[in-house]
Amino acid sequence: MDFTLTVYKKLLESLISKGYSFIPLGDYIESRANVDHNPFVILRHDVDRLPQNSLRTALIENSLGIKGTYYFRIVPESFNEEIIKEISGLGHKIGYHYEDVDLANREFKLNNPKTEISEEQLIDLSYKSFCKNLDKIRRVADIKTICMHGSPLSKFDNKIIWKKYNYKNLGIIAEPYLDLNWSDFDYLTDTGRRWNGRDVSVRDKVNSNNIPGLKSTFDIINSLEKLRDRLMITVHPQRWNDNFVKWSNELIMQNIKNIIKKYLFVRS
Ligand SMILES: [Zn+2]
Repeated sequence: MDFTLTVYKKLLESLISKGYSFIPLGDYIESRANVDHNPFVILRHDVDRLPQNSLRTALIENSLGIKGTYYFRIVPESFNEEIIKEISGLGHKIGYHYEDVDLANREFKLNNPKTEISEEQLIDLSYKSFCKNLDKIRRVADIKTICMHGSPLSKFDNKIIWKKYNYKNLGIIAEPYLDLNWSDFDYLTDTGRRWNGRDVSVRDKVNSNNIPGLKSTFDIINSLEKLRDRLMITVHPQRWNDNFVKWSNELIMQNIKNIIKKYLFVRS
């Protein structure tokens, strides 16, 4: 059975045995020059929901001496102060998984159901929302990097804020979609609960190589020699479970979401 915590641990162990080290995104950005020679993984976790699952992957990584970055959303299904503190106490970095364009747009629509919002106006409202929410999460943990949430059911990309504003003025040093030189990296993401799910992802796309033939976690473990020295791996901890009932629920939900996304976006 794939997408269990046992398989997740195997994946990490196989990367370690191939000589990969693990560097959080912020540390890589701050010391880029010093890590050129090493095979390394930037391990990213998008905590879309079920934050307690993130605590489990955080503990597994900690037992292997690995540090990653956990990106928390501001919505109640993700934002959990206790868990953020515990994960940060294990040595992991915390980031803000922002969706302020979607949030600002929804709030505007609620208050002005008959008015069409301009992009400029939406960007201004979103930036205000971003600053307010960044302050809120910074009261719980140190935040140096941010990463957009895909908001698959919204027509707006959360990154449009950065057409006008600069997060670097807020002490944020990196947004992986905008600050990594993707031609140097292989990108692996479990979006859609498979590793080759780019066709079901609306926005989790980067301009890196598409690595053919990697569907299951076992495919990755068995073909590590095909991968480059530099990897970004995105893992959504809510997709990984050792409990069979939770595992199947996640599978059913994911299949429904994949179908919705495919017909709403990919085919339109
Ligand atoms: Zn997300």
